[in-house]
Amino acid sequence: MRPVAPHHVVAIDVGGTSLKGSCVDGDGHALSLERRPTRAADGPDAVIGAVLELAAELASASPDRVAVGLALPGVVDDETGTVISAANLRWRNVPIASLARERLGTTVAVMHDVRAAAVAEGLLGAARDAHDYLLITLGTGVGAAMVIRGEPYTGAHGFGGELGHVAVEPRGPLCGCGRAGCLEAFASAGHIALRYQAMADEHAEGCTARDVAQRAADGEPIAGAVWQEAIDALAIAVANYVTLLDPELIVIGGGMAAAGEELFGSLRHRLEAHMRFAKPPPVVPARLGEEAGRYGAAIGAWRAAGIDEARLRNWQAAR
Ligand SMILES: [Zn+2]
Repeated sequence: MRPVAPHHVVAIDVGGTSLKGSCVDGDGHALSLERRPTRAADGPDAVIGAVLELAAELASASPDRVAVGLALPGVVDDETGTVISAANLRWRNVPIASLARERLGTTVAVMHDVRAAAVAEGLLGAARDAHDYLLITLGTGVGAAMVIRGEPYTGAHGFGGELGHVAVEPRGPLCGCGRAGCLEAFASAGHIALRYQAMADEHAEGCTARDVAQRAADGEPIAGAVWQEAIDALAIAVANYVTLLDPELIVIGGGMAAAGEELFGSLRHRLEAHMRFAKPPPVVPARLGEEAGRYGAAIGAWRAAGIDEARLRNWQAAR
């Protein structure tokens, strides 16, 4: 790895299968991207080791590092820097911030991955200049982060914003969390593919959610029904959120956001039908894609290191 410019932070997005880490300078330029396997199959300690090793390696590339930011999945207490539970890392009550601080001897900021992505979308992406917005990530699962008055809201125990496990149909299909009818059981890429494969008689093997969206657009009735169910479930969950919290914007990211109008057009239409006493807010695609979590971790690290907020806002110009 080539040596990097002074004054940077190390930002790592910890995913179920891979770690993505970068050095990010004070102007928001990511100076490198390193990928490593998460090693979840080797147990929780192996994952901790992989995260700390990558952080140390990136940090050692510059002698005057200022901070480390980590974006992590599961139920995360951003305040104490503890991952309370993360099934895909096999972590329970891992005090990752203090472990990293001990190993690296530097400031460490920890953030839930979807909240990190929401912060990044707010500074650099689809939610620029918005103060109250909801980010939903539609991927294998359904993630969400609520930004209220400019701050990602964590709730009392770190799991605030778990929109994926809001019930939209009590008699609906079983969700991975063990309950029936969660939004995730209708609208995650994983469940859309499974429901289609279970309902379609043929040519469904190996079909992904994107294929289902395409087949729905082509007029195939079973794909159309599964896709419409997903859109309806999303519309109900989003309408409930809008009714409670009156956001100015809904941002949708994750792999399924690539379905384009098939997703956004249909969702806007259904949302309109579910809203009673207010117009629904704009529903827009996320802009930062896979980089969002890593950028959010970098922003968290810079804030923990005391960067001037005006300088952070200049990151927009750097992109
Ligand atoms: Zn659930």
